[in-house]
Amino acid sequence: MCLFCDIADHTFKDAYIVDETEKTITFLDINPANEGHVLIIPKMHVDSILDLPDDYVLEITAVSRKIVRAYKEVYCAPGYGVMQNGGANCEFGHFHFHVFPRLPGDGYDWVYPEGEKEVSAEVAAKLSKAIS
Ligand SMILES: [Zn+2]
Repeated sequence: MCLFCDIADHTFKDAYIVDETEKTITFLDINPANEGHVLIIPKMHVDSILDLPDDYVLEITAVSRKIVRAYKEVYCAPGYGVMQNGGANCEFGHFHFHVFPRLPGDGYDWVYPEGEKEVSAEVAAKLSKAIS
């Protein structure tokens, strides 16, 4: 279905696989923010968390915690980053969690778009209403 599906079913042989569970596979990102940057993917082709069953969400979260523990051991990393772009912003069309170690002075940074953004009780209320 896609490259990530091929990695998940082991038909693509060149991925550097770090971990595999019943519902996930984790491999090195080929364009890492830092050494050890991995992608955790579900073994099902969806592009959004909205289409991912809860048990997959939970397993991906549990795997990300295992990876962060490994960063402490391997890199003595005092921090980490987790990032996920979904839906129309899912770069490969297959849901994936970016997880990478953060090291002092590593130069990684968020880039926010310019402009004012509202932070208010009204914003919180409209989101809260949509959840309930
Ligand atoms: Zn796929």
